Amino acid sequence: LSVFDKVEQGPPDAVFGIVDRFNKATAEWKALPTSDPKAADEFKPINIIVGAYRDENGKPWVLPTVRQIEKEMAEDPALEHEYLPITGLKTFIPAAQKLMFGEEKPTFASVQVLSGTGAIYTGFSFLKNHVNCTKVIGPTPTWPNHPSCAKTAGLEYGSYPYYDNAKNSIVWDQLIESLEKAEANTVVLLHACAHNPTGMDPTNAQWEQLADLFTKRATTSPLIPFFDCAYQGYASGDVEKDAFAVRLFTSRGLPVIVAHSFSKSMGLYGERCGCLHIACSSADAVKRVTSQLSIFIRATYSNPPGHGAKIATKLLSEPAKYDSWLKDLNVMTARLHAMRTKLREGLEKAQKESGAASVQNRDWTHITTQTGMFSFTGLTKDECAYMEKEHKVFLTPNGRISIAGLNDSNVERVAKCMIDSII
Ligand code: PMP
Repeated sequence: LSVFDKVEQGPPDAVFGIVDRFNKATAEWKALPTSDPKAADEFKPINIIVGAYRDENGKPWVLPTVRQIEKEMAEDPALEHEYLPITGLKTFIPAAQKLMFGEEKPTFASVQVLSGTGAIYTGFSFLKNHVNCTKVIGPTPTWPNHPSCAKTAGLEYGSYPYYDNAKNSIVWDQLIESLEKAEANTVVLLHACAHNPTGMDPTNAQWEQLADLFTKRATTSPLIPFFDCAYQGYASGDVEKDAFAVRLFTSRGLPVIVAHSFSKSMGLYGERCGCLHIACSSADAVKRVTSQLSIFIRATYSNPPGHGAKIATKLLSEPAKYDSWLKDLNVMTARLHAMRTKLREGLEKAQKESGAASVQNRDWTHITTQTGMFSFTGLTKDECAYMEKEHKVFLTPNGRISIAGLNDSNVERVAKCMIDSII
């Protein structure tokens, strides 16, 4: 008997566990004999689970700008695969800072890390080990990995109210009240833009009000604003506009931390490209903070991967490439926007055609007012389970769907199934 035999089975991941079920259902569907009526396209399992961009044919999309850079890199005789420095590619850091903070050069300790998740975990660990923080609070609902990262870094995790599922709106007064009461030194996790899963962001005026709250508390009982910026460019289609909240808090001199991911905005998911930015008020503090981050990184994964960072640096530093990337971003956001409209139209049509009195007054406006990669549909856990069991449409049980998984050939079916699930 091995000492490992008694290890308990852990629960499957909230998101990837459903992907496993989708893959199994797809394999079963593909194995059906063509004579089986269930082998028809209309029974093909649909994946609207994961937040990864898909093109109009449901296929992963390598951004043309990224593809072009990769070609140039492959032909460059100077390309090598040496280790990067512990804190990442030297040229990547200023390029990522400029994208996040604009032309003004704030004083930040920035290190290249393993994408958004790596930035969150490294940032939380830094707060636990060097700033005496004990607790993070995040919005309800949020990305399920936030509490997991906090717990793994040794921080307690709590929440603040964010969204009313029935009204499809942010519960702003409750949010403010909760943050006014939060204990000093609490780390407040904020989604910089394109809130996951709700797709609802504070307005600029609300961000100002929030910045006022943090500023007012700064000297007596400070809160630490920790921005998760995983979708820069995905909310408004404009990378500058989507940086509004981060830049506002930074301009107030608050102790801002940003977990900056390039997974979605550049389609570099598997390359694990990201940056952690920590606001300091002197060059000396930047040096000290960076030294502690370096020690942590060295002991956890030694140094970050090079490929994605080399692509991102070229893309951000060469003006023609940068312009071409903004166009790619617009292709993605425009398609997502069109899919939102089609889904809403499909839902309104399907509910009318169903004739069921119970759904006639259901309002679907939120599908088009929400932004980013997801829609928080308002479907209940039971309705989501029904979608999976009866229609082989896979989504997370909180009613979130990835708009990127929709296309012209499946959007109407998804709309009909949604209406069927709530009747
Ligand atoms: N934060 C949020 C809100 C996300 O949705 C994601 C990706 N699903 C991430 C962070 C991290 O993604 P990555 O580690 O690929 O950058």
